[in-house]
Amino acid sequence: MPFFDHNATTPLATVARDTWLRAQDEAWQNPSSAYRAGTQVKIRLDAAREKFAILLGDEAERYVFTSGATEGANLVLAHWARTLPEDSLIGLNPTEHPCVLAPALALFGSRVRWLSLDAAGVVDLASLQRDNQLGYGAGRIAAVVVMAANNVTGVLQPWAQMAELCQRSGVAYLCDASQWLGKLPSGGIGGEGFVIASAHKFGGPKGVGLLKLAKQSEGLRGQLGGGQERGHRGGTEDFPAIAAMGAALAEAEQKKVFLETDRLRWRDDFERDLTLAIPGARVVAGGADRLWNTVALIMPFGANTRWVTRLDKRGVQISTGSACASGKSGPSSVLSALGFDVESAQRGVRVSAGWATSEQDWRELLGAFTAVAVEVRE
Ligand code: PLP
Repeated sequence: MPFFDHNATTPLATVARDTWLRAQDEAWQNPSSAYRAGTQVKIRLDAAREKFAILLGDEAERYVFTSGATEGANLVLAHWARTLPEDSLIGLNPTEHPCVLAPALALFGSRVRWLSLDAAGVVDLASLQRDNQLGYGAGRIAAVVVMAANNVTGVLQPWAQMAELCQRSGVAYLCDASQWLGKLPSGGIGGEGFVIASAHKFGGPKGVGLLKLAKQSEGLRGQLGGGQERGHRGGTEDFPAIAAMGAALAEAEQKKVFLETDRLRWRDDFERDLTLAIPGARVVAGGADRLWNTVALIMPFGANTRWVTRLDKRGVQISTGSACASGKSGPSSVLSALGFDVESAQRGVRVSAGWATSEQDWRELLGAFTAVAVEVRE
């Protein structure tokens, strides 16, 4: 049965699995060890860095390997907390993932400024420019975080314009590309700012990710915990996982799924037919530019956990929102940021397809929703 929770995690791509197994056999040693086998792993690690530079752009030295986007977000925010002027502010898109929101609030507290959004949750660039809020000084926004694509709604943010604006204003920028990579063309992602991502969102293994350093920064030197990754990140690098991440991203890029306009049609047909079959169901940010794979819905009745468990009984897996939030009973922070009240947000579900999802899978999903609606209504 179809799997519709790819924004939570993707199955391991065959090419990534093969690469991982081979590297476990051939290159499992510690890349920091001084003997030849260690040095050879170090050489392969730097070759993997070059590969990311080719796939995503910019110099290989800007790529730092991490355990995932959560670690990347924590590293960048801790770096800003250490290096930005004490009286400066940071601008946050309110629909960021909790892995950004939590450390940002913990480290900057009342120095956080929420960026304005339109009704679909797209950051309003014009208002930032109009009020001349960006700049490196007291009471001004010295750093900005805006993701590339939203994990719950799939809404695409104007990250390229944001990166350019920040660069022109001398302001630091962080782009969370976790849901963009592998789904849309990744070359040049994040411009000259920091970029974070996790391999398991695009067919790579869990527990590995990347952080692209901002061009103008000195990087993250001064982090606690060790001198690996040229002092930007401490901890032994997991070369097999890094190599598998590279293989997965290269394959995803080669597939060029974003050129297949059929995928948008399948998503749109599903949305149209579902809202006809279940009156009152509503697509969140329906009119906005969104990822071809993601649909966030507010169902007209029934708690989202009921929809998820009933659909699961029919062999269809969907989500109540972001993966980290789905274990909790509270509403998705993204839906709350979009202005949905708690009761509506608790009727929110997320459907996210993958590369292997077919038109027939979308149809089966529609059939399962329609059948389950009868049970949930009762
Ligand atoms: N950012 C976004 C947009 C995500 O969707 C996720 C995962 O759901 C993350 C960051 C965190 O990724 P990880 O849990 O792999 O660190």
